[in-house]
Amino acid sequence: MADLIQQGLTAARVGKLTEARRLLLKATAEQPDNVTAWLGLAGVVESLEEKRDCFAKALAIEPDNHEAQTGLTLVEQKLATKQADANSAGSLHCFRHAQTETQLRCNRCNRPICAKCARRTPVGFRCPDCIREQEDKYYTGTNSDYAVAAFVSFPLSLIAAMLFTFVLGGLGFWLIWISLFVAPTAAGFICEAVRWAVSKRRSRYLGYVTAGSLIVATVPFILMFLLLGDVWGLMAPFLLIFLGTPTIIARLR
Ligand SMILES: [Zn+2]
Ligand SMILES: [Zn+2]
Repeated sequence: MADLIQQGLTAARVGKLTEARRLLLKATAEQPDNVTAWLGLAGVVESLEEKRDCFAKALAIEPDNHEAQTGLTLVEQKLATKQADANSAGSLHCFRHAQTETQLRCNRCNRPICAKCARRTPVGFRCPDCIREQEDKYYTGTNSDYAVAAFVSFPLSLIAAMLFTFVLGGLGFWLIWISLFVAPTAAGFICEAVRWAVSKRRSRYLGYVTAGSLIVATVPFILMFLLLGDVWGLMAPFLLIFLGTPTIIARLR
């Protein structure tokens, strides 16, 4: 019997783990009260759970065995760490929504993001922060470009609004068809003027500022016809806004 345990421990010492496991397993089966056999087996089994069971068996036989106590403590610490890792891997939370669990990560900054926040790009899922950062590199304009855009587009918009109100407004039914062509053209002309004035620099809100100018310049004419009670009259300035605004926003991206 002692031979079996000795052979097993020797096999373990020279690295023949499969052989050691076989011998020590046999020894613990034949002599389940042998602490040395259980401690030997604990050293050669593969999983942490098996090691824990071996140390526990040894402790049950000999409660103040120092090697078994130390071994069990160590194995349980490792098991707890493993469990904590498994938990945190399974429950990532969106860095923008602490309550939302997710499996996704931004492939640029590697932070976890939920499906609502993730933006699909040609290179994978990205978080809004990273998307914005890259857009900022694309936008080369300065804040003063917005003032320049408003300064240039407002008088041009005012001219366009007057043209629409007092020239095209007199065309009656044909107004709608002609506006379909003229409004985007007028808006395009304003865009080109703005682009030239800001030396072709791109800015995030350049289109909105320019479209805002068009609206501010045109709305007084709409109000004027509303006050006069002339519903047909406000058609022309309304069409300028309705058709011109999308053109400006699309062209000044
Ligand atoms: Zn990111
Ligand atoms: Zn989110």
